[in-house]
Amino acid sequence: MELLDTLIVGAGISGLSLAHALQKEATSASSLKILVTESQGRVGGNITTVTAEGFLWEEGPNSFSPTPELMKLAVDVGLKQELIFADRKLPRYVYWQKKLQPVPMTPPAMIQSQLLSFPGKLRALFGALGFVAPAMGDRLSQQGDEETVSQFFRRHLGQEVMQRLVEPFVSGVYAGDPQQLSAAAAFGRVTKMADVGGGLVAGALLSAKNRPKK
Ligand SMILES: Cc1cc2nc3c(=O)[nH]c(=O)nc-3n(C[C@H](O)[C@H](O)[C@H](O)COP(=O)(O)OP(=O)(O)OC[C@H]3O[C@@H](n4cnc5c(N)ncnc54)[C@H](O)[C@@H]3O)c2cc1C
Repeated sequence: MELLDTLIVGAGISGLSLAHALQKEATSASSLKILVTESQGRVGGNITTVTAEGFLWEEGPNSFSPTPELMKLAVDVGLKQELIFADRKLPRYVYWQKKLQPVPMTPPAMIQSQLLSFPGKLRALFGALGFVAPAMGDRLSQQGDEETVSQFFRRHLGQEVMQRLVEPFVSGVYAGDPQQLSAAAAFGRVTKMADVGGGLVAGALLSAKNRPKK
């Protein structure tokens, strides 16, 4: 029996990109024996592209943040020509109280937004400025010391922001349960801002200041 160097369980994007990265790092293609296993009859995991009756659609993820790492991967695997870039300025909407409400993307839009009540906006403002209870006790996930998405945003920005802005975003991107998803895993950039101390606004300003200039 031939010995393997690496066995990867699961051929979703994590397993496949790991296999790709390991293979690329190897000095020659034959020097590393990698086996990717998959329990389903197809690769891709959550990524589910369907073609039928002349139509093509995604039943899983349909977009990603164009981080340098992901863009490099897309180019490396020959998908450069297939990438379609969305206009970042396009508005996003949340269906709330039988109406599509634009998601506020700027502080003035937040003030005028009908998506949050006045107390909800005040709560978010105070939280963003750093008036936040510490993460402790029964607030933390029972599976460990990690805060869930729900715990993190409720603590920092209040119940309304959690329910009306974060939840729709989480179901759109992760199709997951914010009460189970890890905040650090799903919103790493935001939780790092909070780690700075002084609230999300201070964290955002500081990380913008420390971001390397292009
Ligand atoms: C409806 C939906 C929409 C989404 N939209 C977006 C989006 O727009 N943008 C975005 O960035 N993310 C989105 N996500 C999240 C994204 O799809 C996932 O984060 C990502 O696909 C996870 O990839 P993964 O390889 O880690 O896991 P998975 O895709 O779950 O792959 C794991 C694989 O391992 C296999 N496996 C499990 N156990 C075993 C075993 N014992 N032996 C062998 N094989 C095994 C499974 O069959 C599966 O194929 C969405 C998710 C869903 C469900």
